[in-house]
Amino acid sequence: MRLSRFFLPILKENPKEAEIVSHRLMLRAGMLRQEAAGIYAWLPLRFRVLKKIEQIVREEQDRSGALELLMPTLQLADLWRESGRYDAYGPEMLRISDRHKRELLYGPTNEEMITEIFRAYVKSYRSLPLNLYHIQWKFRDEQRPRFGVMRGREFLMKDAYSFDLDEAGARRAYNKMFVAYLRTFARMGLKAIPMRAETGPIGGDLSHEFIVLAETGESGVYCDRRVLDLPIPAEDVDYDGDLTPIIKQWTSVYAATEDVHDAARFEQEVSAEHRVHTRGIEVGQIFYFGTKYSDAMKAMVAGPDGAEVPIHGGSYGVGVSRLVGAIIEACHDEAGIKWPEAVAPFTAVILNLKQGADDTDAACEKLYRELSARGVDVLYDDTDQRAGAKFAAADLIGIPWQIMVGPKGLAEGKVEIKRRSDGMRETLSPADTIARLAGA
Ligand code: ATP
Ligand code: MG
Repeated sequence: MRLSRFFLPILKENPKEAEIVSHRLMLRAGMLRQEAAGIYAWLPLRFRVLKKIEQIVREEQDRSGALELLMPTLQLADLWRESGRYDAYGPEMLRISDRHKRELLYGPTNEEMITEIFRAYVKSYRSLPLNLYHIQWKFRDEQRPRFGVMRGREFLMKDAYSFDLDEAGARRAYNKMFVAYLRTFARMGLKAIPMRAETGPIGGDLSHEFIVLAETGESGVYCDRRVLDLPIPAEDVDYDGDLTPIIKQWTSVYAATEDVHDAARFEQEVSAEHRVHTRGIEVGQIFYFGTKYSDAMKAMVAGPDGAEVPIHGGSYGVGVSRLVGAIIEACHDEAGIKWPEAVAPFTAVILNLKQGADDTDAACEKLYRELSARGVDVLYDDTDQRAGAKFAAADLIGIPWQIMVGPKGLAEGKVEIKRRSDGMRETLSPADTIARLAGA
């Protein structure tokens, strides 16, 4: 992508409306545009990040055996009357009526709809276990939308729903999602800690929130510092095997949100030097809710002995759009964003430090062509800006690798590369640069 042809409306001034760094940097880096309170347009740079996050979420859901589908954003009110949540949900639900005066709503979550789909088709325990998920926009008319995409009204969520014959099966499904979540957030360069949590309006008795520690987070949390160093399950983790050792390892170290925090236990289990009390950003939550929805909505299957039993369910959310903000909160400095490579909008940016000079232009074009041909997602800053402005913009938008091409270096056959995460610089030939970035 050539920057001269890209749409990157960078702001020079610090926007006043942004209260937290991720929102401020996103506005400055030309990533989002507020269209109404809590409702944003995704400009190209941020859309690329969203797609990468979404893809990691998808790959890890698929790996765990969950199946992707896509449910609509609009739902019938009558469906929610069956579960009793149409009235219970309150003003957060956006209620709409169509031209025939049928009552609809913009889905804040999908337990009812997935249960309706399930009961229409699944009649026997032989079809279980089943876990269905989608990645779809949600609407919650939040009282205080704020912090940009962190608390939007319209936001993108991955939500999965598991169906099992009994509690033991449902706990296995829960454990699979627990492990999938550990892997998902780690792949994005985040430390997201599973913490015991309240179940809220979803219902049920077993729940964990996955929390990224950050002062700007909205949840108060308590944990044992050592939870930050626990190992992440490997790519070849056997989802059909016994996952309980992994779950035990993670849940035996104290980590709880303030809603369920037990001060006495905390002090007893965690020695003073390991105690952490801070704030965090909830990037995901998993629930086991038993037969709450299947009882209310009569989702029954025939068990091995032929008797009809209500299925045991769980639901599992990831805040896909919130993650864009959470990653920036965790990965930035005064100069701007530092995208982890796995979610970066581009892997590398070529900075032509003397646009219009034959030698730098030719060297940049060649690098751009060859890197693209090798599959590296590369942005080429071919604008007329002076070098200082190009450095500042590259730091701001946070591309992991900067390749600086200037006349001095080129006279010796060299370019300079800089790693955004730690500022490491190296002088290399263009061929070595390509080899390095293309992972050869
Ligand atoms: P919160 O406590 O932050 O309001 P929640 O517990 O109501 O969130 P869940 O029903 O658990 O949300 O939704 C699953 C995930 O969706 C959350 O973990 C969070 O990452 C994300 N999410 C929830 N509400 C919003 C929102 N208003 N804007 C952006 N992401 C959200
Ligand atoms: Mg939650």
